[in-house]
Amino acid sequence: NSVVHWFKRDLRTQDNKSLALASEKAKDAGVPLIALFIVSPQDYQAHLTSSPRVDFELRTLQILKKDLAQLDIPLYVETVEKRKKVPSRVVELCNEWGASHVFCNIEYEVDELRREAKLTRLCAEKGIEFSAVHDTCVVPPGELASQQGKQYAVYSPWFRAWIAHLHSNPDLLEKYDSPGKNSKDSREKFKNLFDSSIPDAPANKMLNDEEKKRFHSLWPAGEHEAHDRLDKFLNQKIGHYTETRNYPAANSTALLSVHFSSGTLSARTAVRQARDANTTKKLDGGNSGITGWISEVAWRDFYKHVLVHWPYICMNKPFKPEYANIEWSYSEDNFQKWCQGQTGYPIVDAAMHQLNHMGYMHNRCRMIVASFLSKHLLIDWRKGERYFMEHLIDGDFASNNGGWGFSSSTGVDPQPYFRIFNPLMQSERFDPEGEYIRKWLPELKDVEGKAIHAPYERGAEKIAAKNNYPKPMIEHKFGRDRALSKYKEGLGRD
Ligand code: FAD
Repeated sequence: NSVVHWFKRDLRTQDNKSLALASEKAKDAGVPLIALFIVSPQDYQAHLTSSPRVDFELRTLQILKKDLAQLDIPLYVETVEKRKKVPSRVVELCNEWGASHVFCNIEYEVDELRREAKLTRLCAEKGIEFSAVHDTCVVPPGELASQQGKQYAVYSPWFRAWIAHLHSNPDLLEKYDSPGKNSKDSREKFKNLFDSSIPDAPANKMLNDEEKKRFHSLWPAGEHEAHDRLDKFLNQKIGHYTETRNYPAANSTALLSVHFSSGTLSARTAVRQARDANTTKKLDGGNSGITGWISEVAWRDFYKHVLVHWPYICMNKPFKPEYANIEWSYSEDNFQKWCQGQTGYPIVDAAMHQLNHMGYMHNRCRMIVASFLSKHLLIDWRKGERYFMEHLIDGDFASNNGGWGFSSSTGVDPQPYFRIFNPLMQSERFDPEGEYIRKWLPELKDVEGKAIHAPYERGAEKIAAKNNYPKPMIEHKFGRDRALSKYKEGLGRD
């Protein structure tokens, strides 16, 4: 007999609701706890999971396996080629291990919910208990509604409701216990599971040696790293977060998104620790850096709540149906210039270089490049959304889709469509000294002063041309006017 916890995007032992419940159940029943993770290459394909992200998960599993082994809990990782087979394979393994109960944390995307629905049926047929619990959001989806009983589609009133809900339900921020130890004999009993190894990445998601070196040093994996980062951020940076968070050269944000999205850090842990660091010991009042950061972590919850209430956004549809009629461009040539950071707008190009090198981009720059693609180039925002997922190490469907919807004005609580970022003004405002641009565009590092923002218009054309930096691919006013008229035209169609 045994109890199983199925790990997915919750790759940690601490403050993990399903794992804690599974451990408690096993202890009460006097049986061992077994941990399972399924590698699903077809899911990676279907969800455009980037290779750095797959690598990050597999590195994390190595660490998790060691940590769990210290508690005499085996972690078994298996690759299941056909994703349709995942639920039946989970049930087969449970039968093999004599498991009476499987626990997991819920994932809210449509494919994942369908998979869990199938598992529910199969488990019922085999007499195995199956519990899927809310864990990834601080406030579970479905808990917040407006006075008319509707889901919020605007962030600010939603956030006020989120804070009020946490004030009246402080238990939502309480920490779940880490799993207890299995009895010693489980080592013998499940020797093959303890001895099993973590599979390699599927061939099409494998990093080469140079990439491995780069991503391993940029993004150390595992929950211990996540906690160290969180502690350092809370001790050293959070106080200045509100004033500095929009400046990409300032290196002032937490760089925790990869940990939230793979679950090496729970958002509940982060919000609780930030709250406890506040002078008020509350989520509001006190230190504005702390409350500002909590409200950013809340955006992650917001977009997941949106996904649960309007699942059609998982199916390539814009949140606002009336925006489905915009006539997008599909110019491959223009799209490639954007992907490779060859647009001739230094702030856009620097940001795309950061993404291509690090698998990460600063939030302000994500907004700038998304606006440039969907408005100046009028390219279908879904192409940009895909490119981000294929390259981000922190790719998360709800946050990415939400960010693209915001910037292209097609999503929930978006920028109004007529608000079109001027890339030059964004560059001058948020990278005033051009530090970020010089870091990511070495071809412009010798350009002095304000010419860095627009080298061809500000007297640095010689350096730019010598180093093959391209001229702007589109004139700002032309792009802006065309976007305004195309958006208007699209909205006017039935
Ligand atoms: P911090 O500023 O320290 O914020 C802390 C945490 O709050 C983040 O780690 C993140 O979990 C959450 N957060 C902050 N801002 C947002 C936001 N706008 N939306 C949702 N959550 C937020 N974030 C992802 O995690 N995955 C994505 O795939 C993703 N794609 C994006 C695409 C676009 C077009 C845009 C505009 C934003 C996207 N974001 C995404 C949100 C945001 O850019 C990143 O979460 C942030 O840059 C991560 O850096 P950090 O951990 O240093 O953030």
